[in-house]
Amino acid sequence: MGVTPAWWRAPLARLDAWREQRALARRAIPDDLWALVLARLPFLARLDAADQAELRRLCSLFLDRKQFHGAGGLAVTDEMALLVAAQACLPVLRLGLHFYDGFVGIVMHPDEVVARRQVMDDDGIVHEYDENLTGEAMSGGPLMLAWSDVDAAAEGAALAYNVVIHEFAHVIDMASGPVDGVPPLPDTAARERWIGVIDTAYEHFCALVEDGVETVIDPYGAEAVEEFFAVAVEAFFVAPAPMRQESPALYALLADYFRQDPAVA
Ligand SMILES: [Zn+2]
Repeated sequence: MGVTPAWWRAPLARLDAWREQRALARRAIPDDLWALVLARLPFLARLDAADQAELRRLCSLFLDRKQFHGAGGLAVTDEMALLVAAQACLPVLRLGLHFYDGFVGIVMHPDEVVARRQVMDDDGIVHEYDENLTGEAMSGGPLMLAWSDVDAAAEGAALAYNVVIHEFAHVIDMASGPVDGVPPLPDTAARERWIGVIDTAYEHFCALVEDGVETVIDPYGAEAVEEFFAVAVEAFFVAPAPMRQESPALYALLADYFRQDPAVA
């Protein structure tokens, strides 16, 4: 591949920058609303002023690119949308919003949603059951969230729980194709290294859960490695110090990937 000529790249970059400036102006976040959201999300307190400013900038762009819909009679306010945006943008603070380009719609329900599921057993018999969903991420969107759980983000953080970060961790995972606990990585070597670390951490975690040990990372993660990835990312951002203690190798992997070290900051 030849060298990209600068003569056509420069105008394109200028156009992108111009579009971004317009979006930032259109979606400027009022100071009082931003202060309210910071107060409601205690795990953002570790960010220094520059990181908070960058998070606020990403929130404006996120709100410009995504469409919120209230379901079940829920009216999505600016505060509600910004609460989602701030938590969604935290993992990609140093990576950029392109991870979230694959979808536009975010559907917010007042409470958990009961979904009818079907599974076929080994004998070919289909069983139906109800699953209570607090959120769901699908390839191509929309992303679903239960407002009741988003609203309880501060209380959830004490339990290393965060529904928004969980669902957006799935979106990051999906950005590389299948939902398999492996996000986009630069090459095969990095991918193999990732799989080695997460598989080892996952096996260890499943053994703890099986033994009835109380874990920092949500025991729901024992369901599958992709769920383990999502609950580990939640814990990494909202309860970083205990998460690092429980799973140091996985913590280091995530810190390297997200270019953030929340347990130290
Ligand atoms: Zn999940």
